Amino acid sequence: MIAAQTPLNEITNRIAAAAQKAGRRPEDVMLMAVSKNQSPEAIQGLLAAGQRFFGENKVQEAARKYPALRARYPDIRLHMIGRLQTNKVAQAVTLFDGIESLDRPSLASELSKEINKQGRLPRLYIQINTGAETQKGGVLPTEAEAFFSLCTKHYGLTIKGVMGIPPTGEDPTPHFLLLRIIAARLSLPHISMGMSSDFEAAIAAGSTEVRLGRALFGSRI
Ligand SMILES: *Cc1c(COP(=O)(O)O)cnc(C)c1O
Repeated sequence: MIAAQTPLNEITNRIAAAAQKAGRRPEDVMLMAVSKNQSPEAIQGLLAAGQRFFGENKVQEAARKYPALRARYPDIRLHMIGRLQTNKVAQAVTLFDGIESLDRPSLASELSKEINKQGRLPRLYIQINTGAETQKGGVLPTEAEAFFSLCTKHYGLTIKGVMGIPPTGEDPTPHFLLLRIIAARLSLPHISMGMSSDFEAAIAAGSTEVRLGRALFGSRI
């Protein structure tokens, strides 16, 4: 019997094909399901199909949905991918296994305090604003190295990767390549880039983690 092609199957196949085309191994590209604005029922559907890696962009929303889901699926891995306010850092450190939006000294300072206090160590990525867009979070590419040093040397944080969101309406590839160069310069193994509309280009440029919402869940409310 041939199973029906679900969005998860289809995306998994497209990720594998894009990796192979780039001479990379499919298992070196992780699929994050971005579940912002999605109901617990919709998330359950993906969990039942075997997906375990999820992303949310708001602390409150993740706090409402994920503790109950985790009670059933303890091996869920949840990353924060939205702008993080310093007054939500304690909750974020409790809730998330990774925080990909580290982008300013005040946040590094709070994270350092909470990580020491809670003894929990979420995987941290620095967000890079490759398009230098004022409305977007992230450090400027030219400031990435200095911010990385501040995080590691001054605040004692362990940084594992970079994350970026290319400007809409532009060719994303130069932005992806810039993220890859920054990750290489800082010797960071994780490069979180690529969304529903551009994940294959991101994989060609070296993404290790694609973040997909609409392509997996259909349109959000
Ligand atoms: C919403 C979101 C995504 C997923 O976007 P889609 O276009 O639905 O795939 C990825 N990354 C971040 C930071 C997001 O906020």
